[in-house]
Amino acid sequence: MTAQSDDSSLPQSARVVIIGGGVAGCSVAYHLASLGWSDVVLLERAQLTSGTTWHAAGLLTTLRDTETQTRLAAYTQQLYRGLEAETGQATGLIECGSIQLALTPAKAEEMRRGFRAAQSWGIECEEIDAAEVQRLWPLAYVDDVQAAFHFPKDGRVNPTDVTRALARGARRGGVRILERCPVTAIERAAGRVTAVHTERGRIATHIAVNCAGMWAREIGRLAGVDVPLQAAEHYYLISEPVAGVHPQLPILRDPGRRTYIREEAGKIMVGLFEDVAKPWNVERVPPDFAFGEIPPDWERVQPYLERAIERVPVLAQTGVKLLFCGPESFTADHNYLMGEAPNLKGLYIAAGFNSLGILSGGGVGRVMAHWIVHGHAPMDVWSVNVRRTHPWQSNPRYLADRVVESLGIGYQDHWPFRQWATARGVKKSILHDRLAAAGACFGESAGWERPNWYARPGQKPAYEYSWGRQNWFHNNAEEHRAVREAVGLFEQSSFAKILVQGRDAEQALNRIATADCRVPNGKVLYTQFLNERGGIEADLSITRLAADRFLVVTAAFTATHVTAWLTDQIDPSCHCVLTDVSDAWCMLNIQGPRSRELLSSIASGDWSNEAFPFATAREVRIGYQTALAVRLTYVGELGWELYVPVPFALGVYDALVEAGKPFGLRHCGYHTLNSLRIEKAYREWAHDIGPDDTPLQAGLAFTCAWNKPDGFIGREALLKARSEPPRRRLVQFLLEDPGPLLYHNEPILLNGARAGLITSGMFAHTLGAAAGLGYVSHEEGVGDDLVSAGRFEILVGSRGIGARASLRPLYDPTAARARS
Ligand SMILES: Cc1cc2nc3c(=O)[nH]c(=O)nc-3n(C[C@H](O)[C@H](O)[C@H](O)COP(=O)(O)OP(=O)(O)OC[C@H]3O[C@@H](n4cnc5c(N)ncnc54)[C@H](O)[C@@H]3O)c2cc1C
Repeated sequence: MTAQSDDSSLPQSARVVIIGGGVAGCSVAYHLASLGWSDVVLLERAQLTSGTTWHAAGLLTTLRDTETQTRLAAYTQQLYRGLEAETGQATGLIECGSIQLALTPAKAEEMRRGFRAAQSWGIECEEIDAAEVQRLWPLAYVDDVQAAFHFPKDGRVNPTDVTRALARGARRGGVRILERCPVTAIERAAGRVTAVHTERGRIATHIAVNCAGMWAREIGRLAGVDVPLQAAEHYYLISEPVAGVHPQLPILRDPGRRTYIREEAGKIMVGLFEDVAKPWNVERVPPDFAFGEIPPDWERVQPYLERAIERVPVLAQTGVKLLFCGPESFTADHNYLMGEAPNLKGLYIAAGFNSLGILSGGGVGRVMAHWIVHGHAPMDVWSVNVRRTHPWQSNPRYLADRVVESLGIGYQDHWPFRQWATARGVKKSILHDRLAAAGACFGESAGWERPNWYARPGQKPAYEYSWGRQNWFHNNAEEHRAVREAVGLFEQSSFAKILVQGRDAEQALNRIATADCRVPNGKVLYTQFLNERGGIEADLSITRLAADRFLVVTAAFTATHVTAWLTDQIDPSCHCVLTDVSDAWCMLNIQGPRSRELLSSIASGDWSNEAFPFATAREVRIGYQTALAVRLTYVGELGWELYVPVPFALGVYDALVEAGKPFGLRHCGYHTLNSLRIEKAYREWAHDIGPDDTPLQAGLAFTCAWNKPDGFIGREALLKARSEPPRRRLVQFLLEDPGPLLYHNEPILLNGARAGLITSGMFAHTLGAAAGLGYVSHEEGVGDDLVSAGRFEILVGSRGIGARASLRPLYDPTAARARS
């Protein structure tokens, strides 16, 4: 490796151009260099760290809300530990540990559940009592502490120094870093990046990485790419020196008071996560804002500072050295934006870190570099993948309204089924008012208002959150029973519907889907799209409508990803076009043993099993209207999905509701869809299956048409895996005690040893206890013998609950009901 490169001149071309010299950009550069990519240029508008990085508090706390964020943070900590020795640049790392406090029984339950999962992810942590908190933090008031968790490996760094160390490591690996070199345009041709323009000239490149922090939205706009993030004000205070405060004091995280407290050069730093935050520069971040500060609003932060004083009373007698307010970018769901843009090849994004950019910066750089070099992330990062977002989310008003809530969410209660309160009502089905009148309590997914459960007459359709049975438990039980015993109506118009059309549509889909798409018109396929490693990128249904027309249906939140996946895989020379018809069709899903009787009573044609078999579709008439009826189920019962053009939807809905009365038709919400599908062991993408899980592991190999003439993407990887014993498989569990509830991430114990985590769980009302799905790993293979003979327990908080385990669905294992 050469020492420092000559950074001053602008190269004419580069393999990769990184935009932004904050912690993210420098980490991407460092990791690209580590992978041997040295023809890389990093362009910084002003000076390194001058955006948000310079003023961060530098907390390195590993246990985050999701496994992905936790893994990114854990790697970051490990990287920063060795960075000074490697680069010679100090990082200011202090491994002082951290403590999280729970002030209510509910928060204690949440943290205990998180702490159990953290142990499975290899994070060192232990539960401690208030006396131990007092010993570790003598100046703290601890009488209100219900539970506390100590993470001895956590710590803090100096963000500027860490970034400099990463930059130094990158330079050593050959990366050129140009400061005072703003990017002004991104050139594109034929759907991919071709060059990056700066105030100093043009660099030809096929790969640009948008690491521009809160300016990432503007950089995205230069390329016609949506980067939905918004800057908001973020505060910390530094006191005058305090006796007894020293660098080894653990970081004290006090979510109940929305504050964290740590030592800073003999003083006390208090950081705030406000419940109601303030967006900053909604339309456009000033292009020349460097090492900038926002004048603080004392009145705003006063209540939080008072709460911090309650925690560390000595602050009441201590002066304030600094009240700092700086902007940071936040996203609509409090998760990062990473990966390749869905609509522009070669434009990668790493931004929107929600005040966690330093503690995840190392992991972000590693994942992005791997993604760029190998074409995929090194692990499942769906929860931070930019392809989970939707173009409409770039609407500044939406973002401004949502970040008011998303800034503080990390420090609030993470209730199961918690719904966003802000920026609601973005997308509504034409049936919305009818559903509201029927008692719907709406939740949000991909901007859609969707009924999660229906209130009884006189009951308020609103959540009362808890870790136990919530106020809608019995509503869910009744809806669940209605579908198992009579018939239920699910309004699922939010589902994404994509027409794949053209002479080559069959051939194109046949290579992408695991199923054999060479089927007659009217055949419905349940299938997956796999990546080259055999991992599941999508789980969906395909209906053949005509020789040259297929309807692909997938969950709303996967719409951008599935569309981009299809676009990426379909050869541009193919005669095959994609048309998103999601918003043109409503979908009403009629499920339950009496669905045939109901539909026969109002719709045209013969609905018998012989005339309308499982996994087929045909056009039907209901009253004056026409619909596409697709016989399929996601709940394990006889049923049909009705795809209805929007103008027909009210008529069809009214007819169904009226005709459904004698059959016991009941409105059912998404929570019921979930309890039914978990009881039936149906998998959900992004929960039970994802890019790191193969159909072999997930028990979905039955969808693979192994002998299709041209195979399918991922087949070769699966064939290789098939020759070895399956060491990891998805198993269904049913708790032996009907009391505890499962959500996700509860550890699975096999004969007393940790064997995996629950991926999704809910109360299974027919089986009579909480059921869950989760992967079990075992060196000698996971087969029927192990699953039936093993002693399984699920760790719920501090309790191990005995569980029945099965590789086959515990409800209707032969699927006789759906095919009846
Ligand atoms: C008060 C406060 C406390 C915080 N505390 C913590 C903490 O304790 N732990 C933690 O993990 N995180 C913390 N954060 C968050 C953290 O600082 C950020 O997540 C992180 O710094 C973001 O890094 P970045 O590289 O994405 O963005 P930035 O640091 O903003 O870097 C983006 C860079 O892009 C450059 N740029 C913009 N436009 C252009 C252009 N046209 N051409 C070239 N370059 C351009 C900018 O100049 C900037 O340098 C805190 C944030 C704040 C505000």
